[in-house]
Amino acid sequence: MGSLPTERPLKVIIVGAGLGGCATALAMHHAGFEVVMFEKVGEFLRLGDSLGLGENALKLLDRWSPTLRARLVDIGNKSELMQIRRWHDGKVLARQPLMDMAGFIGHRGDYHRAFLNAVAEQGVPLHMGSEVVEYDDTMPSVTLKNGERHVADLIVAVDGIKSRARELVLGFDDHPKSSGYACFRAFFEAAHLRGDPLTAEFVERECVNIWIGRDKHLVQNTLRNGAEVNWILTHKDTADIQESWFQPGNMHEVRRLVEDCDPRIAAVVRKTDACLDWKICYRDPIPTWVSKNHRVVLVGDCCHPHLPTSAQGASQATESAAVLAQCLLLGGRENIPLATRVYEKIRFPRVRRAQTNGEDVRDRWHSALDKVRDGQEIERDSILIKNHVLYDYDAEADTKKRWPELSALVSEELRTGQITPLC
Ligand SMILES: Cc1cc2nc3c(=O)[nH]c(=O)nc-3n(C[C@H](O)[C@H](O)[C@H](O)COP(=O)(O)OP(=O)(O)OC[C@H]3O[C@@H](n4cnc5c(N)ncnc54)[C@H](O)[C@@H]3O)c2cc1C
Repeated sequence: MGSLPTERPLKVIIVGAGLGGCATALAMHHAGFEVVMFEKVGEFLRLGDSLGLGENALKLLDRWSPTLRARLVDIGNKSELMQIRRWHDGKVLARQPLMDMAGFIGHRGDYHRAFLNAVAEQGVPLHMGSEVVEYDDTMPSVTLKNGERHVADLIVAVDGIKSRARELVLGFDDHPKSSGYACFRAFFEAAHLRGDPLTAEFVERECVNIWIGRDKHLVQNTLRNGAEVNWILTHKDTADIQESWFQPGNMHEVRRLVEDCDPRIAAVVRKTDACLDWKICYRDPIPTWVSKNHRVVLVGDCCHPHLPTSAQGASQATESAAVLAQCLLLGGRENIPLATRVYEKIRFPRVRRAQTNGEDVRDRWHSALDKVRDGQEIERDSILIKNHVLYDYDAEADTKKRWPELSALVSEELRTGQITPLC
């Protein structure tokens, strides 16, 4: 398929082994490249809670690993339908197939473990406890905290929302801004909810429920085949933003927020010991994902973070990995700048669609009850999650199809030195 010379495979360094980094490693390895990964933390913990994986990502992962898809599907929530409910009494306003909405919902840590296992099965070296402290996009190379320097043909930074590589690529530090919302979120073993008639229905079988209210919504679902329950309460929050995955939430505040909510889910929340407080930070789209010399390239949350309502963070990172690997194959070893620049051009509009889908659904939910007087029917279509439009997409096929046109355009940009900004 590709035009790379056969003597030495392209060497790719991947910085970061989150879900996006693992997907990138699988895509690059599948393309026949030599891959080395560096990860800052010494050991991965089971962090986060529910994460959606859509068919747009699963079809790619299935091509790159013989075992991963089955493991991911097994981890995912098995409910056929999810319910969208009215805040104060839980009346079901709409039902929607789960596979049209977020795809497979599972615990981020469980999915991450499956991704890491798939990477290990392919024999890709992953160096844990190896923080990259410096990038050089001329060689290109990375320098680790212990002083070691590693050179490759291409550096792919998949280093998350607090990316150091983004600064290098942009030439300035891109600060987060508040989205105006925060989430309180908790997950825990569900056994003690089974004995209470008020809460039992949320743990007896696998389920996904969403309560929509004015300027807030609460998502509840089971994890690990019903052994665990997860709830995420999104609410208005204009407090100072502190981007943290670990800040403890104030349970008094949470209980106050659900005082007027469906008593059944309010009881689940009351039976929760502790939660986390996530300020939902936002970043404006950035004008480039590729360094000046075209050999350090961003993938995943570091260049395209998503709101939780997008349910596409890991899936879009997987698509980005696929497009980058295809561009490198199509361009060949001598044309890495062409490949990285075509990559960002293909990815930017697609990612924006997934990002704005998340904003759109949040806004529709938070205003739905304003549009009708209480008690009146809400138009079902106005509150559905519309992610299914993202699932048919095949990132690899699209790259092959668009390569001739976009590579001609980018060749001209590289010749004149006038790279058009993404935004
Ligand atoms: C702790 C945590 C919890 C999350 N929880 C959820 C959730 O519950 N639901 C959801 O939908 N999404 C969640 N997300 C986001 C989701 O995981 C991402 O949208 C998706 O997986 C794509 O992320 P990524 O791989 O691009 O970045 P990340 O998942 O952030 O991974 C980046 C990796 O790069 C490593 N790294 C960073 N800097 C360096 C460096 N200088 N050198 C070496 N390594 C470095 C980090 O340690 C990390 O492992 C969470 C993310 C994190 C980090």
